[in-house]
Amino acid sequence: MSAEPLISLRGLEKRFGAFQALHGIDLDVEAGSVVVLIGPSGSGKSTLIRCINGLVRPDAGSLSVAGRSVDLGDEGAWQRLRTEIGMVFQDYALFPHLTVLRNMTLAPMRRLGLSRAEAEAQARALLARVGLAHKAEDFPGALSGGQQQRVAIVRALAMRPKAILFDEPTSALDPETIVDVLDVMRGLARDGTTMVVVTHEMGFAREVADRVVFMAEGAIVEEGPPDALFGAPLHARTQAFLSLLR
Ligand code: ADP
Ligand code: MG
Repeated sequence: MSAEPLISLRGLEKRFGAFQALHGIDLDVEAGSVVVLIGPSGSGKSTLIRCINGLVRPDAGSLSVAGRSVDLGDEGAWQRLRTEIGMVFQDYALFPHLTVLRNMTLAPMRRLGLSRAEAEAQARALLARVGLAHKAEDFPGALSGGQQQRVAIVRALAMRPKAILFDEPTSALDPETIVDVLDVMRGLARDGTTMVVVTHEMGFAREVADRVVFMAEGAIVEEGPPDALFGAPLHARTQAFLSLLR
């Protein structure tokens, strides 16, 4: 690919006190691609994707998004990143005291400057796209986990982000609703949404990922296309991890 990556990390480091959570992470995410991050619990997957939108601030290294290098000490740059890069969490993180519609219009009105009418029209169109138009006036608590997660995904889309990060989006869901959420994510991938996805859904990774990245102990051990990484992992650490899944 000739164009520069949409997201580029070089030598990213993160410590929590004396504990080093990320060691020299280099990662490129091409525009329109899906990168799946896998690895054991505690390997730094959440910390890494949180660095990409500034929820966690790296201590060292460089991060650039859409050709713009983020000055690690520049609060304004991190704020901009939070607007540009969407995030979907395991626990949905919807505002429980706001209706689905308000959950989806709040940030676009405040941060993108949309009028209420524009934000609501956009929200209703996005909800329709994931089969939830009839839930617009409900509170999140009245929805199933899978429905709440689909709302969380379209809430992220409502900000028209350059990329969306997913941190174990189906880990808290019942098996029957996981399928619906993965279907939505598959649709986004087909539409060319740039996505970085932490997941244990290896079927999804095999089918949808352009690249799979295996992390252990705060470092990237290896990465490659799903066929190569799952079919012929190079490192013993990766082989051991994958063998536990079968
Ligand atoms: P994963 O998502 O792969 O399970 P995490 O990125 O959540 O891993 O965590 C990586 C390591 O960093 C773990 O050892 C975890 O305990 C530690 N860690 C993560 N966040 C914090 C924090 N805010 N304070 C201290 N340690 C943290
Ligand atoms: Mg995690």
